[in-house]
Amino acid sequence: MTWLDLADDTPFGLDNLPYGVFSAGGAPERRIGVPVGDHVLDLTAAAAGTAAAFAPLLTGGVLNPLLAAGPATWRDVRASVTEWLTERRYADQLRPHLVPLAEVTTHLAFDVADYVDFYSSEHHALNAGKIFRPDATELPPNWKHLPIGYHGRAGTVVASGTPVVRPHGQRKPRAADAPSFGPSQRLDIEAEVGFVVGVPSAPGTRVSTADFADHVFGVCLVNDWSARDIQAWEYQPLGPFLGKSFATSVSPWIVPLAALEHARVDGPTQDPEPFEYLRTGEKWGLELAMEVRLNGHLVSSPPFATQYWTAPQQLAHMTINGASLRTGDLFASGTVTGPERDQRGSFLELSWGGREPFELPGGVTRTFLEDGDEVVISATAPGPGGTRIGFGDVRGTVVAG
Ligand code: MN
Repeated sequence: MTWLDLADDTPFGLDNLPYGVFSAGGAPERRIGVPVGDHVLDLTAAAAGTAAAFAPLLTGGVLNPLLAAGPATWRDVRASVTEWLTERRYADQLRPHLVPLAEVTTHLAFDVADYVDFYSSEHHALNAGKIFRPDATELPPNWKHLPIGYHGRAGTVVASGTPVVRPHGQRKPRAADAPSFGPSQRLDIEAEVGFVVGVPSAPGTRVSTADFADHVFGVCLVNDWSARDIQAWEYQPLGPFLGKSFATSVSPWIVPLAALEHARVDGPTQDPEPFEYLRTGEKWGLELAMEVRLNGHLVSSPPFATQYWTAPQQLAHMTINGASLRTGDLFASGTVTGPERDQRGSFLELSWGGREPFELPGGVTRTFLEDGDEVVISATAPGPGGTRIGFGDVRGTVVAG
């Protein structure tokens, strides 16, 4: 068991042990932390205090050295943290390194190298197609042959809690004769799941689906803020650009793949059968239950297990041309949308392109985001014995641009 006083239903139990970066007590120093119950274990201090061999990897206030160290070290660190929090002989030594979760400030946990965003929910792709291109009733012809994606802007991936300034740009409503310029009038969210690469790959090599867990460290939540009016005017023929690149928010805690063993499920049946390099013998669908809240009200519950393309397939596709991976690469799933109306992962879909406002309590309606709106995306996954693994949340408030 554990010498900690943990609630049975805590999202941060000993089977989770995600990693993040925090500061506390008004001190600017950033430390690596592991949330457990309603505290954060100061892993930087705990590793130094126990003279752990991996302690030097945890001193820089950023996860990248740990990410780069690879799966054997990831297992060592996780086993050590589990041992420290389980065996009573460590209690006196570690208690001073437990900081109340309510008193910490979390930061971006890793230096983001490259950022790629996919488009792997069939329900989202069908909805977006119908909304953006009213004549289109089917998926694009390539959609079931490859995981469609684009390269995003790594430098504007921001920590949860960072205010999102409404972007300005060009937009041209379908009925307008000419484009106009100004603040986006169709600012939106995309509820997504992000995968954090630890171990790099050499240029010219390919990373197979089977090697997924040798390279990918863990999973976080992503809000891919999107200005639909800017996006709609600029995206053809080269894809998303300024409608996406102003901000992408990520959750503070990176859940290691090892914590998700009980969440792994088969992905949907793929027809047509994909090329050999996209096939996988392992289950890497993930049964994450996501929730999207606007100003505190639940507006959507996207089921991640409905994604058509899984993360190992995305990783294999991303590198099939020989493009290398770097430590800190982030690739996101694409908007997660299920088959039901209340499972849509964007306001674009919830309001059907702005044509069908959706209701909030108190007679309030929304199509797209208004200044002052706060969006919080959270998720849990099955853990052992009926427990839940918590991802924490990614939050952001829109401010006038
Ligand atoms: Mn996206």
